[in-house]
Amino acid sequence: PAARYAPAIVVGSGYGSAVAALRLGQAGVRTVVLEMGRLWDTPGPDGKVFPSTSAPDQRSMWYRTRTEAPLATFLWLDVVNRDISPYPGVLDRVNYGDMSVYVGRGVGGGSLVNGGMAPTPRRSYFSEVLPQVDADEMYGTYYPRARAMLGVNSVDPDWFESTEWYRFARVSRKHAQNTGLKTTFVPNVYDFGYMQREAAGTAPRSALAGEVIYGNNHGKKSVDKTYLAAALGTGNVTIETMQRVVAVRPDPAGGYVLTVRTSDTTGKVTQVRELGCDRLFLGAGSLGTTEILLRARETGALPALSDRVGQNWGTNGNVMTARANHLWDTVGANQATMPALGIDDWDNAANPVFAEIAPLPMGIEHWISMYLAITRNPERGHFTYDAATDSARLQWTRDQNAPSVAAAKNLFDRINLRNFTMYRYDLFGDNKAFADTFTYHPLGGCVLGEATDGYGRVKGYRGLYVTDGSLVPGSLGVNPFVTITALAERNMERILAEDPR
Ligand code: FAD
Repeated sequence: PAARYAPAIVVGSGYGSAVAALRLGQAGVRTVVLEMGRLWDTPGPDGKVFPSTSAPDQRSMWYRTRTEAPLATFLWLDVVNRDISPYPGVLDRVNYGDMSVYVGRGVGGGSLVNGGMAPTPRRSYFSEVLPQVDADEMYGTYYPRARAMLGVNSVDPDWFESTEWYRFARVSRKHAQNTGLKTTFVPNVYDFGYMQREAAGTAPRSALAGEVIYGNNHGKKSVDKTYLAAALGTGNVTIETMQRVVAVRPDPAGGYVLTVRTSDTTGKVTQVRELGCDRLFLGAGSLGTTEILLRARETGALPALSDRVGQNWGTNGNVMTARANHLWDTVGANQATMPALGIDDWDNAANPVFAEIAPLPMGIEHWISMYLAITRNPERGHFTYDAATDSARLQWTRDQNAPSVAAAKNLFDRINLRNFTMYRYDLFGDNKAFADTFTYHPLGGCVLGEATDGYGRVKGYRGLYVTDGSLVPGSLGVNPFVTITALAERNMERILAEDPR
């Protein structure tokens, strides 16, 4: 047995963890949050907390010698990536053979690096994906609560129509409308009022200065500024950074014992501790939480875990593509980094696609229309435990993404045909028009009602909970963080009401 470090420990500090920490803190439970990344609040030598996308440095990526941006090339030249020195940077790309997964590292998790898009899924599709969850409660209570806490807001339609910063989106909308497709505004957690002040020159630029995947210096309501700030405000929550949880076992005296590695910024492990707690909330994300539980089951530390741990993982059908426009259809040198519009063809039963119109802010006219398509891909991956490296390995093959590519191709073939345009083949490497080897939306691995009960309580162990994107079975049809947050709100309310302290 290890000394009891705190009544509750929360692993990770993304959306799910932030909800858990706040609601535990408000309930008067002393809680420690353990995050493997750093706190992003201190300016670097350039006076900024986060580096710009055009001049990435060590802060950009998690212990890399070269950046690995999603758009690797332009006109087939490797002009995007840069050599950097290893450091606990904010964006990680976890490479598993045929599939790579982008995740955020640091206090705030994915909220530090994401595009801020905050849609709520179609209710009918939500009910199909998570039939055991009461949709009335979700859409009546928990989604509104999550959106309010996260600071979800919408672009002013008049400004959107007139600003040069969204010209790229209006051009894509015109091409979609020519094809008979409808578009919809996508809400965001970036403060659009702030963005208008950036455009007016009255506030320092962030979304209008190319900032997004390596962090936003202004305007973005990441969870360190919302949920986690409120959690710290309860006086019951503390956050410890550069703490990686590597193992968990039951304490014979009750509760759990974690093995936690502290690292310095060179990556050197400076301390290994065993920390005890009564209740443990896993919010390390789909990859992180699944790895912790899979390792615990396979090494015999938590042998009663369900065989569903590690199963039912998906990419949310992510695939990116790009089109080349005619010379007269300029997309503009100035592009806001926060997407605000999507092509909504999800009700097309034969070929459902929700394609967000993504910016490609290069500061020059390039006539490129970019998209992140979310498709309905029934394929699922699973994780196996590799004892030699003591890590989880994703089992996912390239052909499993064929349904996503086919769906996106179906939609964009129609758009190209109607507008006499073509795909761009030079942006994603390997002369590909579709980027099908990475995802921004890892979902599943410890799915609700399979590896856990209907509220995230891990099957087989009392006082052990999953609170993040690993609860969602692989697909949502829209970007996931609002749903991850709302589900965590729902589960925490039940757990705090019912489970013994
Ligand atoms: P995460 O936010 O991933 O948080 C997990 C945290 O746990 C991380 O901080 C991690 O460092 C930490 N951790 C992991 N393992 C351990 C460990 N062993 N010990 C301690 N700490 C650990 N979603 C949207 O809805 N809209 C978007 O526009 C959008 N754009 C995206 C763009 C990018 C570039 C990326 C990478 C993601 C994007 N996403 C978007 C996805 C969204 O960010 C994720 O779905 C969301 O962050 C997942 O939340 P989570 O709570 O499951 O975990």
